[in-house]
Amino acid sequence: MSESTLRIGLVLPDVMGTYGDGGNALVLRQRARMRGMDAEIVELTLDGDVPDSLDVYTLGGAEDAAQRLATRHLTEHPGLQRAAEKGTPILAICAAIQVLGHWYETSGGERVSGISMFDVTTTPRETRAIGELITDPTLDGLTQLLSGFENHRGATILGAAAKPLGRVRHGVGNGGAEAVEGVVQGSVIGTYMHGPLLARNPEFADYLLSRATGADLTPLDLPQVDRLRRERLAVGR
Ligand code: GLN
Repeated sequence: MSESTLRIGLVLPDVMGTYGDGGNALVLRQRARMRGMDAEIVELTLDGDVPDSLDVYTLGGAEDAAQRLATRHLTEHPGLQRAAEKGTPILAICAAIQVLGHWYETSGGERVSGISMFDVTTTPRETRAIGELITDPTLDGLTQLLSGFENHRGATILGAAAKPLGRVRHGVGNGGAEAVEGVVQGSVIGTYMHGPLLARNPEFADYLLSRATGADLTPLDLPQVDRLRRERLAVGR
């Protein structure tokens, strides 16, 4: 590995990574390599520390018990919090939004403290939100519809420091009074979208890559990605 290698942190794949969310790291690595960059995935597991020196981080979803283990580990090893302070891009999917918030209540009604990287709190809905989710992004730099698959019980309320990632066109999203989805706070972005998200939304993948590398990225012509995107957007309409 050379010094210029892009290092992608896959955070706690041993406990967080439902519905193939680890694929987000694979997409980042592949799209970087297609631009001729060296790129590696660094798996950060429960038996190790969380370094703050990587270029971009992704975290996946999890069920309640696994989510709790992840919360404890990230509290005891605050490398992700330091990376966020430095402005490193971090992508948090589903349960990871909840873990990165101030607290979340499990389906069993127990309140668990999070790591307060997001000004959000989460409580269970009466029913699970399951299905296709489509939003109009409200984050500067994203222009294309976002598409994903949601499966969560938690409803997330944003505080003043957190902004939504998009407005819901189809599906539930954060599940609060407003039809919004996801969280943006500094360089940290959360979303309830599985898919994996970055396989379905190449513009978002390149947004994170350009933030991580500081490089202007040449467009990629990938008909199979366009096909997947068209198919999933049609299902959600
Ligand atoms: N356990 C959380 C919830 O139900 C997250 C689920 C998930 O990540 N798929 O809200």
